[in-house]
Amino acid sequence: MAFEGLTEKISSAFKGLRSKGRLTEADVKDAMREIRMALLEADVNFKVAKDFIKAVTEKATDAEILDSLSPAQQVIKIVNEELIALLGGQTTRLTIAPNPPTIVMMVGLQGAGKTTNCAKLAGLLRKQQQRRPLLVACDVYRPAAIDQLKVVGRQLDITVFDEGQGDPVEIAKHGIDHAKRNGYDLVFLDTAGRLHIDEKLMDELKNIKAAVTPTEIILVVDAMTGQDAVTVSQTFDQALGINGVLMSKMDGDARGGAALSVKAVTGKPIKFIGTGEKLGDIEPFHPDRMASRILG
Ligand code: GDP
Repeated sequence: MAFEGLTEKISSAFKGLRSKGRLTEADVKDAMREIRMALLEADVNFKVAKDFIKAVTEKATDAEILDSLSPAQQVIKIVNEELIALLGGQTTRLTIAPNPPTIVMMVGLQGAGKTTNCAKLAGLLRKQQQRRPLLVACDVYRPAAIDQLKVVGRQLDITVFDEGQGDPVEIAKHGIDHAKRNGYDLVFLDTAGRLHIDEKLMDELKNIKAAVTPTEIILVVDAMTGQDAVTVSQTFDQALGINGVLMSKMDGDARGGAALSVKAVTGKPIKFIGTGEKLGDIEPFHPDRMASRILG
């Protein structure tokens, strides 16, 4: 799981603070320098790391904190609070449409984990909220993508709507009609991805968005691609507008920089994380729990 190196280095900075008893401003600044290095080594965006350290230092070098009975504890508490804020503050749930079905458009680059995570997310919400999900195969360019959606759908016993390789906008509309007629209250549109962001991909996604007015657009990004995942999030958000991010492959990412940077850079929260290859390996993203995990 992510953040191994970061946890170790932050613990070491905290240990230094705890060993001191009384703290001076210089002690805090030394510790913050260590934490800043640790963040950069974890591949956190440069500006994000800088702003984070600035915010913590301003609060932690306040005379009231330095003169308190347990200054190290206070500083650690500030780091924890700022880390939670950096990760998005509150847990951000998927918006549910007042009139069903809720339509979730899943977008992302090829290989990010879109198809797998459509099924994972459908399975999670069926279990947690007793929803009736339908998966709609709108990735018409790769025949393998439709088959793959059917395979994961079958494994979880979730229905897949497909019309083979037709027009993705029409398929999306027909899929939603099918959901309405058959009592499915949650529709996932598995859209096409490409190896790189290009105009054609964005145009197609914009057309689907305009035709079906999705309740949410969730971008799936691969945590293992580090800052590229953050850039991809920014580009998708600017071109299409996204509601949140599903960060896949957190299990394979030892550093964690993408997860720590994406909210600060894009303003859009991580809503879910993928934590393994199995179809049950998905969790809602809880900034407070993640901060505790990072701080060890
Ligand atoms: P798509 O091209 O975006 O639809 O990506 P896929 O859904 O085909 O996923 C690409 C690969 O990533 C597959 O082998 C998935 O099993 C794998 N994958 C997806 N999510 C995760 C995850 O959270 N952890 C791990 N380890 N693998 C994942």
